[in-house]
Amino acid sequence: MSIYLDYNASAPIEPRVLECMIDIYQNYIGNADSRTHDYGDQARNIVENARKQVASLLGITSSEVFFTSGATESNNIAIQGLEAYAKESGRNHIITSSIEHKAVLETVKAMQHRGFEVDIVDPESSGRVDAKKILEKVKDNTLLVSLMHVNNETGIIQPVQELGTALEERNVFFHVDATQSCGKLVDELRSLKYTMLSFSAHKLRGPQGIGVLVLRKKNYKYPPAKAIMYGGQQEHGIRPGTIPVALVGGCGKACQIAELEYQSNEKKLRSIKKKLLELLDKSGITYSCNGDQNYCLDNTLNLCLHGVSSEALMISTKRYCSLSNGSACTSKSYSPSYVLMAMNIPVENIENSIRISWGPETDLEQFQIEFTNLLNVAKRLAQ
Ligand code: PMP
Repeated sequence: MSIYLDYNASAPIEPRVLECMIDIYQNYIGNADSRTHDYGDQARNIVENARKQVASLLGITSSEVFFTSGATESNNIAIQGLEAYAKESGRNHIITSSIEHKAVLETVKAMQHRGFEVDIVDPESSGRVDAKKILEKVKDNTLLVSLMHVNNETGIIQPVQELGTALEERNVFFHVDATQSCGKLVDELRSLKYTMLSFSAHKLRGPQGIGVLVLRKKNYKYPPAKAIMYGGQQEHGIRPGTIPVALVGGCGKACQIAELEYQSNEKKLRSIKKKLLELLDKSGITYSCNGDQNYCLDNTLNLCLHGVSSEALMISTKRYCSLSNGSACTSKSYSPSYVLMAMNIPVENIENSIRISWGPETDLEQFQIEFTNLLNVAKRLAQ
């Protein structure tokens, strides 16, 4: 099998997470909302323990953690869930960026169709959105700013710290899609000021199909986000439906492991990036990195190999490396990445760009062998 270098699409499950989930599936069979027997109590304990593990990683209280099916759902609740409040308060202006994940962009566009005023700010060629350009758009009826912490295609860290402080002063809700940073930029997330935050467990080596929406309390009050589905009162009614206990337990475990190991993981991620750049330099191939590398996460590189079509490269090196061009959610049919387009990267460079993303268990030696194989093929393909 090829080496897996598509962690930003989904990271492999951590063995300790899997072990914990198997134990839950085998031994804790109840519904966490059953009140009439021990099976319910035991399932509830697992859920509440997981909530604490998530809260501990993020440096918040467990009553601020709400489990959902993933970041897509969390993003939808954070944005669509404010609709009733927007009508009540007359604040119906939303600001976001053009490099958000579709789960934010499409939701915001749907809100625009329903009468919301929307501003979509483009990034600079560095891949970063300029915080000032967002703040310039803020006005009296601005309800929400939604900005991702780290872009999934480029790995570029966005100025959420700066915005968090400024938006708090201006009383604007701030939603952060932290799907690619949660469990990695742990200290930054702990000190960040935000109203709502989303992530999916599978990006930090938890299971797929579970995620978190954080609703930060201010003066003991939650932000006014409401459920977008009707059903039971699970998760305080924010997300109705039977809580998937084993998935929740796995999400909590992944957060616990990330909290314990994020510093040593960072070193491993950095050593892969160093090796990657060394191999590139040695190869003699002309390349450029998409996005300002001073702001890039240590597990991602969006790389343009000049004169080498990314589609041709991926097909001919499938047996060596599994990587992507663009996000998995939009990569089924090829069209140039909207993120790289928004950064004003020339289309021919976009067509020659690949996204490589790795994790702490990526084996450095195997990486060296398989990436060298890829580069050798790239040299043959280069026009
Ligand atoms: N936001 C970002 C930044 C992402 O990278 C992803 C996953 N690619 C999502 C949201 C959506 O996550 P999920 O598909 O797990 O709901």
